[in-house]
Amino acid sequence: MRQSRTFIPTTREVPSSAEAISHKLLIKAGMVKQVSAGVYTYLPLAYKVIRNIERVVREEHEAFGAVELLMPILQSEDYWKESGRWYKMGDELMRLIDRKGAGYALSPTAEEIICQTVNNMVTSYKQLPVNLYQIQTKFRDEMRPRLGLLRGKEFIMKDGYSFHDSPESLRETYVDYYNAYCRIYDRFDLKYRAVKADSGNIGGSYTHEFQALAEVGEDTIVYTEESDYAANIETAVVVEDNYTMPTGFEKKERELLETPNQQTIDDIAAYCGVETNRAMKALALKADGEFYLVLMRGNDQLNELKFKKATGTSEVEMATEDEIEKVMGSCVGYMGPFDIKNCKVIGDNAIKYMYNHSCGANKKGFHYINVNPGDYPIDAHYDLRMIEEGDLAEDLSGPVKFAKGIEIGQVFELGQGYSEAMNVTYLDANGRANYFHMGCYGIGITRLVSAIIEQHNDKNGIIWPKEVTPYQVHLLCLDTKKEEQVKLSEELYEKLTKAGYEVLYDDRNERAGVKFNDADLIGMPLQIIVGKKASENIVEIKDRKTLEKEDVGVESILEKVEVFYK
Ligand code: ATP
Ligand code: MG
Repeated sequence: MRQSRTFIPTTREVPSSAEAISHKLLIKAGMVKQVSAGVYTYLPLAYKVIRNIERVVREEHEAFGAVELLMPILQSEDYWKESGRWYKMGDELMRLIDRKGAGYALSPTAEEIICQTVNNMVTSYKQLPVNLYQIQTKFRDEMRPRLGLLRGKEFIMKDGYSFHDSPESLRETYVDYYNAYCRIYDRFDLKYRAVKADSGNIGGSYTHEFQALAEVGEDTIVYTEESDYAANIETAVVVEDNYTMPTGFEKKERELLETPNQQTIDDIAAYCGVETNRAMKALALKADGEFYLVLMRGNDQLNELKFKKATGTSEVEMATEDEIEKVMGSCVGYMGPFDIKNCKVIGDNAIKYMYNHSCGANKKGFHYINVNPGDYPIDAHYDLRMIEEGDLAEDLSGPVKFAKGIEIGQVFELGQGYSEAMNVTYLDANGRANYFHMGCYGIGITRLVSAIIEQHNDKNGIIWPKEVTPYQVHLLCLDTKKEEQVKLSEELYEKLTKAGYEVLYDDRNERAGVKFNDADLIGMPLQIIVGKKASENIVEIKDRKTLEKEDVGVESILEKVEVFYK
C-alpha cells in the first residue's frame, strides 16, 4: 500500500481526556476517530490490526472444532424477558423500540439468541457437544466509557457458546477454550495471567479471567514469579502457612490496662508495648440481621467477600454505635472478645498465632494486655483478611506480587441456568428431555488492540508484535526527488509484495524526519530505508523494537525479511 494513497492521519494533538498510553497512541498514530463517548471509527490501520486479531482467533478456534456463525445484534425483548436479563441487567443493556412498539436489546452478549438458535435444531444427545462462536459488535451502556478501546459502549467481541449433555463434557470444552485462549495471547506476545475468578456467590460458577498485565488495568491481580498461580485480589486465599508461633516464648499473665487517650491501633499498640500485628482489632458487623465480632491483627484488612462466604451471609454492614453499646455491651474503640454479648465471635486465622497481645476490654478507656489464644471464647476461625504483597501464595510456590490487569477474556461454565430459563432441551439416550449444560467464552477483540499497545510501545510510539502488525514491512523512500531512490524503492516494493509481504510504502513527498517519526509512531516491526546509498544499491534495515540499524545490499533484502519473520 502506498502511504500517499492510504489514510493514516497521524497527529500530535491528543485530547487531555486520553489518559492511557494506548489511547494516546491510537490517536497519534491515526488509528481511531472518536464519534461519541465510547464509540469509535476504526481507521484503516486499526482495522487491519483488528482483522489480524480476528484471523488468529479464528485459526485457534477452528483448530479445536469451534464453528463460526453470526447472530443478530438486534434481539427481540421476548428472549431477554425469558432469560430474565431484561430485568436484571438494568441500565447497562441498550434498549430500543421499533415503529410498532416492539422492544429490542442491542446485544451485550448472546446467550439468549444462541439458546434460541439451537432450540429444536439440536434435539438429541447424539448431536452433542455443539460448539459455536461469533465475532460481532456488542453494545453496553457502560457507566464510564473510557481509555479508548479499553472500555467502549460499542465494541467487538468474540463470544463462544457450547452445549453438552454432562458437566464432564462441558469441562472438556472449557479446557479446550482455556488452552486456545493461551495460544492466542501467546501469539500476540502478551504478558498475561489466567486468573481463577469467583462470582462471589456461594457455590459460584467455575470461571477464569484472562488478565493482560498493564499499569492502566482496572483489576488488581495477585500472582507469583515461581509458578502460574494467579488470583483476583478479592478472592486470593491467605494460607495458614503464612503464620508461625514462636517457640519458647513466655506466656504472660493477662492484665487490664488503662488506655484513655489512645485513638489509633498504632497508638494502642505502642502504648501496650506490642507491634501493631500483636494489637488485636475487633470489628462489629451486622450481617443478614445477626451480629458478629470479627477479630483480626491490627494491621490486617477485612475482606468482605471472604466474610460473606465464611458466614453464608449476603447483606453486610457495620454495626452502629448504638448497637455496639446496647446489643453487644461494648463501646467503639474498645471492642474485644472478653464478655462480649449477643453476637458470634469469629477470628481471622492469623489471630491463632498472636501471643501476649492486646485487645479491647469492652469497657471505655481500657484494654487488656498479655492475651493469648485460648484465653477467650471464639466460635470459629477462617481466612478473612485481604492478601498482602509478600504473603505466601496459595500454591505455596513463593511470595505473591500484585499487578494491574486488563481483562482480555473470560471462560465461564454456565451450567443449566440459561437452558432452564429459556426451556431448551435435548433428548437423552432414554428418550427423556434434559436441559443442556452450557459454557460461554468471550474475548475482547477491540480491547485487545489497546492491551497489545499498552504492552508494546516505547517513547517514540507503537511496536507491533509480528502476528498483528498492520504491515510487515515499512518501506521508506527518504527523498522522492532523487530518481535513484524512487527507482530502487519501487523495485523493492514490487519485489516484497510479490514475495507475499504486506508492505506500507512511504512514497509521500515529505521530509525524511517526518517519515522517520511517523514510521516509529505507527510501529511496523521492520523498516527498510532507501536513502543516500541507493546509488550503491545499499539500503538500511531497522528493527523497530531494538532500534538496531544495518546496511544491507539490495540483493539480500528478501532473505533478511524472511529471517526476521521466520
Ligand atoms: P469488565 O469487567 O471489564 O466490564 P466483563 O467481565 O463485563 O468486563 P465479559 O462479559 O466477560 O466482560 O465480556 C467478555 C470480554 O469482552 C471481556 O473479557 C473484555 O475483554 C471484553 N469487554 C467487555 N466489556 C467491554 C467494553 N465495554 N469495551 C471493550 N471490551 C469489553
Ligand atoms: Mg468478564
